[in-house]
Amino acid sequence: MLENAKWIAHPYDMGFECPIFKKEFNLSDEIKRAKITITSKGCYYAELNGKRIGDFVFAPGCTSMKRVQAQTYDITSMLGSSNEIRVTLSKGWFKGRINWLAWEDTGNTEYEALIASIDIEYKNGKKESIVTDESWLSSMSKIRFSDFYDGEHYDAEFVENYAPCVVKDYDKTYIMPQQGEKITEQERILPLKTIITPKGETVLDFGQNLTGYFEIKVNGKSGQIVDLSFAEVFDKEGNFYTENYRTAKAEFKYICKDGEQSYKPRLAFWGFRYVRVNSFPTELKQDSITAIVVHSDIKRTGYLDSSSPLLNQLFSNVIWGQKGNFLDIPTDCPQRDERYGWTGDAQIFCRTAAYNYDVQKFFDKWLTDLKLDQGKDGYVPRVIPHYLSTEWTRAAWGEAATVCPWQIYLAYGDKKMLRRHYPQMVKYISYIGKCTKDKYLWTGGDHFGDWLALDAPNGTLKGATNEHFLASAFYAYSVSLVVKAGTVLGYNVEKYRTLYAKIVEKTRKTFKEYNTQTECVLALHFDIAQDKAQVAKRLADLIIDNGKRLQTGFVGTPYLLHALSENGYTELAYDLLLQEAFPSWLYSVKCGATTMWEHWDGKNENGDFWSAEMNSFNHYAYGSVADWVYGVACGINSCEEAPGYEKIIVAPQPTNKLDHLSARLETRRGTVISKWYHFDGKIRYEIEVPTSATIIIDGKKYEVEKGSYTF
Ligand code: BGC
Repeated sequence: MLENAKWIAHPYDMGFECPIFKKEFNLSDEIKRAKITITSKGCYYAELNGKRIGDFVFAPGCTSMKRVQAQTYDITSMLGSSNEIRVTLSKGWFKGRINWLAWEDTGNTEYEALIASIDIEYKNGKKESIVTDESWLSSMSKIRFSDFYDGEHYDAEFVENYAPCVVKDYDKTYIMPQQGEKITEQERILPLKTIITPKGETVLDFGQNLTGYFEIKVNGKSGQIVDLSFAEVFDKEGNFYTENYRTAKAEFKYICKDGEQSYKPRLAFWGFRYVRVNSFPTELKQDSITAIVVHSDIKRTGYLDSSSPLLNQLFSNVIWGQKGNFLDIPTDCPQRDERYGWTGDAQIFCRTAAYNYDVQKFFDKWLTDLKLDQGKDGYVPRVIPHYLSTEWTRAAWGEAATVCPWQIYLAYGDKKMLRRHYPQMVKYISYIGKCTKDKYLWTGGDHFGDWLALDAPNGTLKGATNEHFLASAFYAYSVSLVVKAGTVLGYNVEKYRTLYAKIVEKTRKTFKEYNTQTECVLALHFDIAQDKAQVAKRLADLIIDNGKRLQTGFVGTPYLLHALSENGYTELAYDLLLQEAFPSWLYSVKCGATTMWEHWDGKNENGDFWSAEMNSFNHYAYGSVADWVYGVACGINSCEEAPGYEKIIVAPQPTNKLDHLSARLETRRGTVISKWYHFDGKIRYEIEVPTSATIIIDGKKYEVEKGSYTF
């Protein structure tokens, strides 16, 4: 791609100041159509004749360092006879603080660079291309500082001083056409109220923890300053709290010019609910600062509703967790100095994500990055793109390679996509086979365990679950997915079938007792337990003895309610779902959460934070509970034999603990609705399917065609 264009850069690396490039050009004849193909090392913000080109925020997006996506925009209506294109670059994902470690490892000296080609077709049939080359000029820009972690400084008075750019011989073969969804501005939110904190600080409350940026409007004088800080929560005393952002400075500073002006940051994002106004030249009006939510442009497909306002708030928090963390890659959190594509978090949430939104293209792109960053031996890095040091794969994190392709296949039924990602699945299980100490188990190594579980011994973040059992159970699970996927694709999977049987057999022999909630959950849900009734009873007892409360972490939580309802304990699953006391999903809701917390005890009952170290209030992992609500409580499932909702199963499991519950799913084949409510002492079900379906009510099966049904 971009064969005739050259990589251009500022003559030297400007650190975190942003370079700007420009080129003036005239067009002599009338044009028929024109497009620009453009990409960069770093993020670009491109303008043509003073107007932004396209609506892709933080283009060219976030990919493995082994590739970069190029975008093509139609610019026919933006061109005149004399034109000026200006492109500002930031270090962004390419070489910002987020990617520092990887660069330190390689010693690569490349810095921000731009490559573009404007291709014009005239009405008289003539064609012309204007490409990046030594004729372009570069300068420092008004963006005096930009970094995803640390924020943006903008000087509206800064005068650019252009000189010729330099041409770089950076590799062009790694440029590929746009594969993922673009990131765009999605909604605008005005502050709900202005708070003066006990410390006397002025803070705007947007009422929603969100990811994005904002627009400021100010009638300023030259040199006056807008200075803002960002936070997700208040501390116990009601003061603005930023310690959990750790080293991410998350600043915004703006130097005014004279007069009415408005500005939106161009190359940085923040995770925040509250904005502290450190300095603002004029009195704040309601629209002086408007929050702008940005995320990947995915289509919403899933909606949940119940008779419980707390539960509805939890559903909303799950959705906002996804909005806030689907920025081209599935991130752990959007605010502190991480924002990485943590593999474990993504596989945990993938199934819920595919109910909530159409995420096929999103995951296809991220899984392609996983493919590029996977080791030759099958090693799956902790985060994708591979921005951290190379170590070893951790159980339940590496599973992104097997779980995500399979879940996306179930949701959308695209065999071609499954085929593309199948080799990574196979490579991954062979990696486990090579790195384990004991054949047919996954022993040795170091894992994240049942990350953040509440049964963690003091001084560690890993729950009490035996990590070799956990790893072996995931080994079995991954191999079972390879068997399923390989069978769908028509491959001979006999050796994997045998391998699976051997892993299960040896895991059973080696790990005979299940002592934690998560151990029971994995033994049940991954079919390791031999006497399921006994293990299910043990799990139920552990939960009941704990006051009908969970103790599970990242690994056990996604399957906890499933393990219960699959084994006759649906009511206990509802008890956990509806539990309001700490620790529970609704505990955070009762504390005022508007997104999912990283820790069950993000804020303790006495109002203290569990720690400043690792305490994100926008971490989607525990939002994975929604897949149980869609798939079990409302019972909407895609069928393994005819995935992508070609054949639908609706098998709701109601409770007396809620008056009503409903799910609506906009599948590619049409709308599925599953609603139940209490009526006249009985339960009434209203179900709508767009194609043939199996409806199961109280164990009784009904084979139905497209239509609406009441039971
Ligand atoms: C991230 C997690 C991640 C974990 C793994 C954290 O810092 O925020 O979500 O899965 O590390 O250890």
